[in-house]
Amino acid sequence: MNEYDSHRIYDIVKKINYKKTENLREADCYVLNTCHIREKSTEKVYHDIGRIKKNFRNKKKPIVVVTGCVAQAEGEILLSREKYIDAVVGPQSYQTLNDMILKIEKKFEKLNSTNFDVVDKFDKLNQIKNSNSNVSSFLTIQEGCDKFCKFCVVPYTRGAEFSRSLDELIKESKDLVKNGSREIILLGQNVNAYNYKGKKLSHLINEIASIDNLQRIRYSTSHPLDFTNDLIEVHGKQKKLMPLIHLPVQSGSNKILKKMNRRHTVEYYMNIIKELKKINSRIEFSSDFIIGFPGETGRDFDQTLALLEKVKYINSYSFIFSPRPGTPAANMTKVEDKIARERLTIFQNKAREIKINYRQNLFDKKSMVLIENRIGKNDEFFGRDEYSNSVIIESDKNLSGKIIEVKIQKGNQNTFFGEISHKPKIERKDFAA
Ligand code: SAM
Ligand code: SF4
Repeated sequence: MNEYDSHRIYDIVKKINYKKTENLREADCYVLNTCHIREKSTEKVYHDIGRIKKNFRNKKKPIVVVTGCVAQAEGEILLSREKYIDAVVGPQSYQTLNDMILKIEKKFEKLNSTNFDVVDKFDKLNQIKNSNSNVSSFLTIQEGCDKFCKFCVVPYTRGAEFSRSLDELIKESKDLVKNGSREIILLGQNVNAYNYKGKKLSHLINEIASIDNLQRIRYSTSHPLDFTNDLIEVHGKQKKLMPLIHLPVQSGSNKILKKMNRRHTVEYYMNIIKELKKINSRIEFSSDFIIGFPGETGRDFDQTLALLEKVKYINSYSFIFSPRPGTPAANMTKVEDKIARERLTIFQNKAREIKINYRQNLFDKKSMVLIENRIGKNDEFFGRDEYSNSVIIESDKNLSGKIIEVKIQKGNQNTFFGEISHKPKIERKDFAA
């Protein structure tokens, strides 16, 4: 979501004649778009500012603005702890960015814009065209969260659930496709909670799928409680919808899920997986896990391992519980650090084993890869298969924006290398030549 926001922030500041620079040492203005989900992300902000300060020691100070969820959660602390920061702008206040930068340009004052005016934000953003021309583009359709899992800052930093209007999303999708996008990844903190005047995510997917030249649709991140039958059914019918679903579970223990206030059980979660597999057996899953949540015993952890084994996630993102100030879990008694770290290692080793096994099974098989861009100076192109796996191929022609059949030859944990098994047929004139 921050990547989407960063593109839109750039669309905003272009209006007051700021341009992107590749030279990180000579910007007039730095916008640090931040994440607050875990503690490390906050520390990164201070490190980045330290680097900017060092670089500008003997030069005119650039404007430094911190945007995103760290700004929202720690705005005043940031401004008083780090004098180098000129302004903090929360994730629902990007529309105020230009006014703030212009004010800072004129006279030096510290500014704080952290209101939750998400309606005003999207009203203003809708008037500014999305200029992103990536083959694969993000599109935020929903923001905020009403679920209040006990560990999570999102309801406090992004505010209540809000769904953007269907019309504006269809328009923005058409703009993205006109710019060259062939894949759209619909985003939301709880993307499947999308509901605009009764129109749900399944409806939006079908609407967007009817856009000519759009080849692929994905969405992230889903909550098990919002995985309704209409969404399951769309996976059986809509060919443009890719067969990888990111469905965070957090823990394999019902006791811990309850303590987390997830409001679903392991059985409920497994039933969604069963239904999805029934409707489309090609579907694979990825998930998020929190290891060492307060109260997690060895038995609870074993249940998480058992779930990992059972579902055989092709990607598992695991994090040690990080107490976030202001959330209820921050006051709970922590699992000893050493034990949590040991469990994380055990978990990640198992997840890696499953992943390697899955990936080795793809060797010598064919995959449909959407080519995104050329990499480096050679004839190498980067793309992704239907399961979002990174694939690199060689080609003397620019294949960006095309779906190519590729035979996977080798690979490591992150990237496959393959060869084109069928030369692409170029059917539509407006595909990149
Ligand atoms: N809405 C999604 C859901 O319900 O699963 C998750 C969105 S959250 C922004 C992304 C992931 O960060 C979560 O799935 C969780 O695994 C992780 N996370 C959030 N808060 C955390 C915390 N306090 N400590 C460790 N991991 C955390
Ligand atoms: Fe955070 Fe997701 Fe829980 Fe909302 S549902 S509080 S975003 S983890």
